[in-house]
Amino acid sequence: MTVLLDIAEPGQSLRPHEVRSEHRKRVVGIDLGTTFSLVAAVDLQGKPACIPDPAGHVACPSVVCYPPKGGVVVGDAAVVLSAQFPADTVASVKRTMGRSLEDVQASEHRTSYALAAGDGGMVRIITSQNNLSPVEVSAAILKTLAERAEDALGGALQGAVITVPAYFDDAQRQATKDAGRLAGLEVLRLVNEPTAAALAYGLDHGREGVYAIYDLGGGTFDISILRLTKGVFQVLATGGDSALGGDDFDHRLCEFFFQKVGVEKPTPDVLQRVRQMARSTKERLSQEDSVTIALELSDGKTWEIPVTRTHFEEMIADLVRATGIPCRRALKDAGVGAKDLQGVVLVGGSTRVPMVRQFVKDVFGREPLSDLDPDQVVALGAAIQAEQLSGNATGDMLLLDVTPLSLGIETMGELVEKIIARNAPIPTARSQDFTTFKDGQTAMAIHVVQGERELVNDCRSLARFELRGIPPMTAGAARIRVTFQVDADGLLTVSAREETTGIEQSVAVKPSYGLGDAEIERLLREAMVHGEEDWKKRLLHEARVEAERVLSASGAALREDGDLLDEMELKRVKASMLALWEASQKEDHEAINRARETLDKETVFFAERRMDRNVRRVMTGRKVDDFQ
Ligand code: ADP
Ligand code: MG
Repeated sequence: MTVLLDIAEPGQSLRPHEVRSEHRKRVVGIDLGTTFSLVAAVDLQGKPACIPDPAGHVACPSVVCYPPKGGVVVGDAAVVLSAQFPADTVASVKRTMGRSLEDVQASEHRTSYALAAGDGGMVRIITSQNNLSPVEVSAAILKTLAERAEDALGGALQGAVITVPAYFDDAQRQATKDAGRLAGLEVLRLVNEPTAAALAYGLDHGREGVYAIYDLGGGTFDISILRLTKGVFQVLATGGDSALGGDDFDHRLCEFFFQKVGVEKPTPDVLQRVRQMARSTKERLSQEDSVTIALELSDGKTWEIPVTRTHFEEMIADLVRATGIPCRRALKDAGVGAKDLQGVVLVGGSTRVPMVRQFVKDVFGREPLSDLDPDQVVALGAAIQAEQLSGNATGDMLLLDVTPLSLGIETMGELVEKIIARNAPIPTARSQDFTTFKDGQTAMAIHVVQGERELVNDCRSLARFELRGIPPMTAGAARIRVTFQVDADGLLTVSAREETTGIEQSVAVKPSYGLGDAEIERLLREAMVHGEEDWKKRLLHEARVEAERVLSASGAALREDGDLLDEMELKRVKASMLALWEASQKEDHEAINRARETLDKETVFFAERRMDRNVRRVMTGRKVDDFQ
């Protein structure tokens, strides 16, 4: 019985994110940050990865510009426009989510845009064209990230997990959820940022106990103490400083630069340029020991200012030390000591500063976990959570599931070439290259089978499809890459692609679990019983296939270049061909192979002469195409 299900659109690329079956839900995790936002998804191998924008950047500045002429600009482009339209550019909108005007004013959060009080005193954002709620601004960011993910995943999103700080109250959470809905997302869940970071490190599979999550971002510092019991994280205590982050490091560097060049009141334009320079200097100093900046002022004078890491560390030492107080307080609130911790996780771009890392180590008395990119870790954890909630994967299943039977394709002579072996952990993907069998062959039939036996007829047929449009080439010249992918649900997608032209076809196959346990067992038992017999059959088939290939190649050669042989030679070659054909009609694979070797030997000199002729043709400047 042949089962053939919906043909999937053959994708052009095999990037892991793009490879997914029709049956897998397209879900993402979104880190909606104060300064940067990211989107991530779990690939077919079960690994979460951030999705970059077309320029290759994964972090989208959480900045939205509403230019006076209309429109909405999000991310890096909005940062560029902010110099021109400071009052129409909204940054750090997260600080206003679910807050009243009074709350925001009390927080001393300074904005370049105007604020007003709306219904119930809730904050509104006023630009020259708009009167916006923070929810609308956040939705604009979410929409940008969702569109980026849809491009990468090849279709509309079916759900998203969005992260929020652990301390967010109900109003702030509700506002975040509304923003998701406004962006057209189905919000599967809001997850605490520290919990997402813990998930990214797989701590939910680790030892039960208490963990500290140290998150130093662009404008905020958060410390969270979590307790893991039975795979669930409980927030024991949170703390931090909502006005402390990497921006303050930048600020110290700016002050230093302006002091060096003796500028007290920089123009907004110069201020923005110097701020950007400060940020990049800071980020470079995480790797390099010293950086020299070239600062050109409006009077045309250029200043070269060197900064060493040591000097930078002196500038920020008090800021870094200030994070220690909330850490100790949070531990106290949670009722644990630093010694009782199972682990410490670094989150936030500013934890890349070596001095910060060292400080965290000193405060908690242990090396913090830092293998994952600290500014991606929240988004990665959110993606894992989304994957689990969508039913694409449930924690353990991801690790324990295997393919129950081998999967392969039919090759010449009704043989099975196994591509994914039985018991391979899923999700999994493997490719194998095949070639054409005949000169000028323009199509290739792909027959997908499942089972342990050597011959197609003894396996279960899953699907058939055809790769068409292969350019005519000599037998063996085309390279056709067949890729098998089994997703976490056991769903198989097979694609075939001719590598020189990029022509591709693919098909999604019924779940390999369509077979009941009893049937799987029967197929396995048969494979064992018939092992020896199958082997002989396989050898015979292989010998016949090879014989046919050599016969067909020799025939073509005679047709093209038969004039290179004299009458005697021609007779001998033809006799050997006949002998091989006769042998191939019998059941003895060894006899067939002997006859084939004889023909091979008979035609060595013929092949040499053909090669000479071809070389001469090329030398006389004819196109290769002319004799194909
Ligand atoms: P958010 O506050 O939105 O959570 P992030 O966690 O992405 O933001 O942190 C952003 C901050 O991290 C910025 O101040 C940025 O300059 C800083 N940062 C990013 N990379 C580095 C680096 N290599 N060295 C020092 N700081 C960095
Ligand atoms: Mg963050």
